Amino acid sequence: MGYDVIIDCYTDEPSGLGVPPFLSVHSRYIVGCLEQSNTEYYYLTIDDLRYANNERHFENSFNKRILNTTKNKENIKEIIKNAKNIYVVMGCFVKYEYVSAEPPTFNEVEELLNKYSNEKTNKLLFYSLGGSELTRKSIRETVPPKLFNEIIFGNTYNYFLGETIQKFRPNYDKLKEIAVLSSNVVNQLERPLIFEIETATGCNRNPGCTFCIEGMRGLPLQFRNKEDITEEIKSLYNKGARYFRLGRQPNFYAYKNCDVNEIEKLFQMIWDACPDIKTLHIDNVSPHNVNTEEGEKITEIVAKYTTAGNITPFGIESFDSIVREKCNLNGSLDDIHKSIEIINKYGKEIGENGVPKLLPGINIIYGLDGQNENTLIHNLENFNKILSSGNLVRRMFVRKLTSPYGEQFDHYTSEELKEFATWSKSIEYQFSIPMLKQVFPLNLVISELRMEMYKDGNSILRQMATCPVRVVIKNKKLQLDEFYKVKIIGYEGNRTLIGELV
Ligand code: SF4
Repeated sequence: MGYDVIIDCYTDEPSGLGVPPFLSVHSRYIVGCLEQSNTEYYYLTIDDLRYANNERHFENSFNKRILNTTKNKENIKEIIKNAKNIYVVMGCFVKYEYVSAEPPTFNEVEELLNKYSNEKTNKLLFYSLGGSELTRKSIRETVPPKLFNEIIFGNTYNYFLGETIQKFRPNYDKLKEIAVLSSNVVNQLERPLIFEIETATGCNRNPGCTFCIEGMRGLPLQFRNKEDITEEIKSLYNKGARYFRLGRQPNFYAYKNCDVNEIEKLFQMIWDACPDIKTLHIDNVSPHNVNTEEGEKITEIVAKYTTAGNITPFGIESFDSIVREKCNLNGSLDDIHKSIEIINKYGKEIGENGVPKLLPGINIIYGLDGQNENTLIHNLENFNKILSSGNLVRRMFVRKLTSPYGEQFDHYTSEELKEFATWSKSIEYQFSIPMLKQVFPLNLVISELRMEMYKDGNSILRQMATCPVRVVIKNKKLQLDEFYKVKIIGYEGNRTLIGELV
């Protein structure tokens, strides 16, 4: 009969994260499909293959390339050699320096697969990006030739369902059972992870923002039923999972067309079924759906039912009106400032783990259409306005405009890179650092910080949360995956706190 192998090489898309400590829906749905067809399988990560290739930790640091192995790590060579099918899952939109994981390049995957797999094994690449034909063409040209028998774009479960035409279109009727069966992946995990949960596909703006890959996918807005989402979470919870993020959707507030009752019932059902959840967070929120009557009610509900340290990451992208108009960005400047205020009104209060319950996050993009010599000035003026308003923002992310193929396909001139560095530094010094100090004042005590990484003799801790802040304990090696309580005693850069154990 044989068995199949999933190798998770991690995914990071605009609406969905699958880099540890997050587990993507893509790999998990494959697990569900294999369970459904009674196929034996192993869930592995790229870290397992690196471990098999004799990579080990260093004297004074953990090697983050092998930190996310699975329970299968001691038998990798045997498992891979005898596999019937190997499913490699990858697709990172941005080249990001992750705290405790390192997604591989195609070349690395090629080297390890050639070394350990059997020539006769059927090897498939599931590439999570690739919404347009142009993107797919570009990716096909980049993947090492002959490495895979087939490259699959779109929802992984559509492949197993035999869907050949509408591969990106969700099939929420069929997904229902697959998502529940996917929970068996927990049995093969070695470390706790945050499970990314899908609630919807498609954007509720038409036309959407000009640069967005979600818009490019052209998928109509579709929502999963709250009952199905709850059953999936319950199934994972019953296997021991405790950390969840409703993150796989372009805009959480748009759920069931911004239906306040449906959103509240969804949370109530999740808590009724899983009372001991430790993290329940959301991701991706459009400001134009916050500064409305329903938006304010949804904010109140999100602040009430999710665990502390949650964020509504806003894709603001630019405060320059010219850019906003040219790129058809969502919401007016007024919407943005009011949305920040609304989130603060309901979420600013400190939660049980020491951090504010719910705060906005801001994404800014360099390189959008319409950008001009005044764009940075507009951005900084508006950041200044937020700072003086007394409202808090917990996460700031400035990135370069990325092609729909992912950042590895981008080409920026040295002048542009220099200008981007100026943007990053100006926003960092004039906004991110002063804001970090407001959100996390000295002597604040934060709990539920997980020891996640040991680097250069220091321990790096983060909460199991959406976009968590980093806390460094200097000159100490704490126990991996243990949770600690820490007092803030200083700052390092724009997103790292220095702490001491209490
Ligand atoms: S609002 Fe804009 S960025 Fe968000 S999903 Fe829609 S098109 Fe994309």
